[in-house]
This record gives sequence, C-alpha cells and structure tokens, in this order.
Amino acid sequence: MSAEEEIYVLPGDSIGFAEEYVPGKNVAEIGGKLIALVPGNVVKNDSRFLMSIDGTKKKLKFFNGDIVYGQITKNDQRQIIISVAGVQKGHEIASCNAEGYIRTGGGRREDGPPLSVRTGDLIRAKVIRVGQNLELTIHGANLGVLKTRCTRCRNVMVLVNSELYCENCQRTENRKIAPDYGNLKI
Ligand SMILES: [Zn+2]
Repeated sequence: MSAEEEIYVLPGDSIGFAEEYVPGKNVAEIGGKLIALVPGNVVKNDSRFLMSIDGTKKKLKFFNGDIVYGQITKNDQRQIIISVAGVQKGHEIASCNAEGYIRTGGGRREDGPPLSVRTGDLIRAKVIRVGQNLELTIHGANLGVLKTRCTRCRNVMVLVNSELYCENCQRTENRKIAPDYGNLKI
C-alpha cells in the first residue's frame, strides 16, 4: 500500500465502521459508526485497527466578517454557545479552537428559542464581533445549519422538498439551514 492520502473531517463526520476499526483519540463509536469528535486529519493504524483524528490546532486571529464552522454545544433561552472548529481562509478551512456565541436576546421563557437550531448542529456562521469569545450570527443567505440530527432518534436529517426529514421517524423538523445543507460546498 502507498502512503495514505490525507482526509480532513469535521466533528460529526462518519469516518468508518466499528466492525473494522476501534475508536482512537478524538473518535467516538455511535451506532456502529466511528464519528469524528474534532476537526482534523484521519489517522489509521492498520496494525492495531485503530482510527483517530489528529486535531492539532493552530493559533488563528479572527476578524469581523470571517466565516466560521462549528458545533452548537449549548442552546437555551439566553444564548447559543458554539465550539468553533474551523475558519474559512480563501478556499480552505483552517482548523481552530475557539468559543463563539449567538445572542438570542429577550430570553423570555415562553418565547422558546428564537433561532431554530439545536445542540449538536453543525453550523456555518459569520463573526460579527471579536472579543474574548466570538460573537456570531447565522442570519444571512449562506449561513445556518449544515448538518443536524433528529431530536427523537439522532438519525442525520435529510432535505426533502426543502424540509428537514428523518427517514427513520418519517417526520420533519425545522432549522435555519444553509442553502447547501446535505451538499456541502466549501
Ligand atoms: Zn428520527
């Protein structure tokens, strides 16, 4: 075998099957699949049947208007917290490790979450303020959810007639999705 090509993955990406490989560093086994927990390059160890992710981070400087990628780690009535894992640099996404937040304003419990996103969603967002953490927005034509799972069964939802559909539960859910949901154009 020749040297392996580098495969860059994002959190939540399926990188293999638990029957073939054991989850190594930065990899979890979910429903028989090996799922990347951090952005980085896939590292296969064929003698130990181990798959891990090299998530070595680079120090990056952020600017207003930067397009970032991350996963929602907390979503309540007050704010949405995003673990920012990548930032668009030209045609590439540079791996990074920063915390972002989206102000949801109001915070009146009866209003419910004003933005239709869920914990665990993978999103594309824009930086609107650079402080200790990054203030982000997903209001914008190209911004929003890129990957989400059914809140009932955790299946990845697919786009059917411009609605998010769980093929397992045969039901739809609502999110503020990016136009390339399920067909990522980076
Ligand atoms: Zn479902």
